[in-house]
Amino acid sequence: MPITVTCKSCGRRYQVVDTAAGRRVKCRTCASAFYVPGDPRNIAPAISPQAMAELEQNARPAMSDRDALLRYQATVSMLPPEAKMAPPEKPKPGLGQKLATLFKKK
Ligand SMILES: [Zn+2]
Repeated sequence: MPITVTCKSCGRRYQVVDTAAGRRVKCRTCASAFYVPGDPRNIAPAISPQAMAELEQNARPAMSDRDALLRYQATVSMLPPEAKMAPPEKPKPGLGQKLATLFKKK
């Protein structure tokens, strides 16, 4: 059975499904968030309005560049020292000779 809810900011009325009871919705007219009246225990699995609000605040469409960089740095710091790439000025002897040959041909 649908629930009639009115936006507190602009007064627009909505008919929402009863499973939205106790959840926060966003007004399509003025974009302000408000709660649908009703008992949220009808929702299965039950999610409290507070938890839903936290989920909405923390939810992001995609991982940001900063998060990707932090995750990359965390992965690199977990590697043992010998697994890190050798600096280019100290290559292995065999590789160094091959590189020297390549540079001579240039
Ligand atoms: Zn509104």
